[in-house]
Amino acid sequence: MQRNIYEDIHDDFREMVKEFIKRYATAEKAREWEEAGEVDRDTMKAAAEHGIIGLSIPEEFGGAGMLQDYRFRAIVNEEVIGAGLGSLAGAFGIQDDLAAPYLVHMGTQEQKEKWLPRMATGEILGALGMTDPGAGSDLRGVTTNAKKVDGGYILNGAKTFISSGKTADIVVTFVKTGEGNRPDAFSLLIVEDGMDGFEHSKTLNKMGFHGWDTAEMSFSDVFVPEENLIGGVEGQGFLQLMMNLPLERLSIGVAAAAAAEAALNWTLEYTKSREAFGQPIADFQNTRFRLADMATTVDVLWAYVDRAMDLYSQGKLSADEAAKVKFWCTEREWEVLDQGVQLHGGYGYITEYPIAKAFLDARVHRIYGGTNEIMREIVARAVTGRK
Ligand SMILES: Cc1cc2nc3c(=O)[nH]c(=O)nc-3n(C[C@H](O)[C@H](O)[C@H](O)COP(=O)(O)OP(=O)(O)OC[C@H]3O[C@@H](n4cnc5c(N)ncnc54)[C@H](O)[C@@H]3O)c2cc1C
Repeated sequence: MQRNIYEDIHDDFREMVKEFIKRYATAEKAREWEEAGEVDRDTMKAAAEHGIIGLSIPEEFGGAGMLQDYRFRAIVNEEVIGAGLGSLAGAFGIQDDLAAPYLVHMGTQEQKEKWLPRMATGEILGALGMTDPGAGSDLRGVTTNAKKVDGGYILNGAKTFISSGKTADIVVTFVKTGEGNRPDAFSLLIVEDGMDGFEHSKTLNKMGFHGWDTAEMSFSDVFVPEENLIGGVEGQGFLQLMMNLPLERLSIGVAAAAAAEAALNWTLEYTKSREAFGQPIADFQNTRFRLADMATTVDVLWAYVDRAMDLYSQGKLSADEAAKVKFWCTEREWEVLDQGVQLHGGYGYITEYPIAKAFLDARVHRIYGGTNEIMREIVARAVTGRK
């Protein structure tokens, strides 16, 4: 089904993203990222130079100033994921959807001036550290704590599963600054690479996204100056997370739709060229029906995601609507990818084939950004009006 959300300016941007991929994201580069377990800094800087990341950063701080128009981010996902480069899409998404927005929307003027211009050039990469080893879904169970001292905070604790956690220069870190677990007991601090007592302790081996790092980090009596308290007001951390999580969840929905579309395309190509019993496997009725299912699902995914992007642009995408998008799209993505793998036969299980990699990447979409069970909880609370 033809999508009608893009305008000429988006089409031009898409061409530029395609050119960027051809030049900077070659198969050889992708192999290098997988071997290194991370996307190299030069590629991130080149992406920033081309305006492919830093999209949400206002122009006055050197970014593209596309704060509310999420369509540009969608194009990046469509093209990068469509080229089988899930890890690169992930690294871009962390910078633009998970790290920068906390400074763009909630940072003080000084914080914006200090970090955003260098984030816009890719010189500084960010990460978001919410999850503690002992608390993921239950964010208010986080025990990483920051005690107020003269001029700042002393931070102790640990974070795990942090995307871009090894490569990041700054980590927007969710910490406990008060007693108990009331929402106002938490704050967000910017922890900077190189601060005494801050270690990127371990890079984790993952099932998928091999070219993009996920790390543990530890904080041992780290002094964080009070200028690094996001927004400059203590006790706002939980609220600040709640404000940005709809964007994070929309971004996962977009990535899921892009991956499902890519899976459909790879599967169409494969089934037309592979023969069995003297005919292309695309000609078997079962294959045709499965491809019809996949194509229809992709259409519905985009129709839903496009509507969500439109609502986001108008500032109207609510937390429960973003939660619906996240869980529903990632579950359809999983079905489409699984079907695509099946139609590739044994080759679908071999990671030389993009469908196999995308399948492994996709598994975490139902887990991170809030598990799909937690998403259903959020939606259920909204529809029933019960806590
Ligand atoms: C590759 C990867 C990248 C990640 N990137 C980041 C990142 O950049 N920053 C960050 O902060 N975190 C990140 N995470 C962490 C991720 O957000 C958490 O793993 C996720 O929120 C789940 O938390 P948990 O692992 O502690 O699982 P748990 O909270 O222990 O959940 C375990 C199971 O119990 C279920 N469950 C828990 N509570 C309920 C409930 N109330 N009702 C029903 N079921 C429930 C969950 O749905 C899940 O199935 C990442 C994780 C991975 C794997």
